[in-house]
Amino acid sequence: MIVNIDKEICTGCRMCASICPVDAIEGKQGEVQSINEDKCIICGQCIQICSAYLSEFEEDITPVDIKLKERGMLETVKEPLFAAYNMCDVQKVKKSLSNNKLHKVVQCAPAVRVALAEDFGLELGTLTDKKLAAVLRKMGFDRVYDTNFSADLTIIEESTELVNRVNEGYDLPLFTSCCPAWVKFMEREYPELLNHLSTCKSPQQMAGAIFKTYGADIDNVDSKNVFSVSVMPCTCKKYECDREEMNSGGYKDVDVVITTRELAYLIKDMGIDFKNIEEGNFDNPLGDYTGAGTIFGTTGGVMEAAIRTAYELITKESIPNIDINCVRGENGVTKSSIDVGDMKLNVAVVSGLENVVAILEDIKNNKSDLHFIEVMTCPEGCISGGGQPKVILDKHREIAYDNRKKSIYTHDSECTLRKSHENSSIKKLYEEFLGEPLKEKSHHLLHTEYASRKEKN
Ligand code: SF4
Ligand code: SF4
Repeated sequence: MIVNIDKEICTGCRMCASICPVDAIEGKQGEVQSINEDKCIICGQCIQICSAYLSEFEEDITPVDIKLKERGMLETVKEPLFAAYNMCDVQKVKKSLSNNKLHKVVQCAPAVRVALAEDFGLELGTLTDKKLAAVLRKMGFDRVYDTNFSADLTIIEESTELVNRVNEGYDLPLFTSCCPAWVKFMEREYPELLNHLSTCKSPQQMAGAIFKTYGADIDNVDSKNVFSVSVMPCTCKKYECDREEMNSGGYKDVDVVITTRELAYLIKDMGIDFKNIEEGNFDNPLGDYTGAGTIFGTTGGVMEAAIRTAYELITKESIPNIDINCVRGENGVTKSSIDVGDMKLNVAVVSGLENVVAILEDIKNNKSDLHFIEVMTCPEGCISGGGQPKVILDKHREIAYDNRKKSIYTHDSECTLRKSHENSSIKKLYEEFLGEPLKEKSHHLLHTEYASRKEKN
């Protein structure tokens, strides 16, 4: 299992059960807890909240070095070991970096660059995009690409899908599909509504598919030698990359996913001075991004990015106000009605998975007038993902989430281009390789399908 509870450390406080959005944590108060694998959507929120850690004074317990090994962690990790944890994939990345036959490509999600610095003692929510690019290059990746690029690509495909559905009036409302924990929940709990999920792969998987096709051609390397690593704020992305349909280019789109915290372990293990490293840049063309790609990292961001593009696709005019503050959500449900030419586009932004159930029931009962819904499992979207640096105290966690969100919007406002369809590298990708959105090649590489998982995990 990707997310686990260590029976030797768990105190039975059930803090994890209080935050689990799908009631997957089982056990009585004061007794060791366990995770129901069928129900678990691998969001990692239990990991974020767990405060039971292994005390050095504990006797008759498995030694730390063995626990580190069991968890796939590096032996150099010095931080306390908590009861709730995710399996790590850092060893696989370390091994690939020393293999000269591989062409190593890396991508990082937007939420990583506003949180990684916390694991190096910098202020909560500090934006370190340029240090991140520099550090990945120093680690030995041949290409330092970016999930922000493929977030822009996702917007082109998803906005086109939305406009088609609105024009032709089918399968509305449309749900976003970039959160794999949400997709897993839908497949298990509401398979009868799967036609409402966008067929777009997540930005992580779109990037992977492009790296091993177009990217391999650019670098003149054989796709089979491309090793694709992604750095994510999310534990469920590990599950997503292993889904069997995620290999449309002929090879697994993404080979390994590590979380923000795992990246920090690797940086420390390699002795890289993150705080003082000279800043660098992501590589072109697959590391080029606009402000719209950046805001994917927080709740409401996918919605705002999609509206910036869909508005212009529908009206053929420039959007009057690029900051769509009414969709910048908080934990919960934020509904708005947006004027798009002659129509009112009814949208909802949902963060915290438990908040989507009422909307799903409305759709089942034909009571919904919504057109487009963004769903993120984690409380504030990916900035609060299960793989982000852990903040123990509630009051600090609030500040961290607030600051991470502010950094995301500051980064957006400072970008020269802020609409996905203005990204010149994306335009070139369509001209040279993909053709048009939602057409044969783009559909094959960038879209996916879903299946009921009511009976199996
Ligand atoms: S990973 Fe998420 S769904 Fe699974 S047990 Fe933890 S909180 Fe619940
Ligand atoms: S909201 Fe983001 S971090 Fe959380 S489960 Fe979904 S994709 Fe992962």
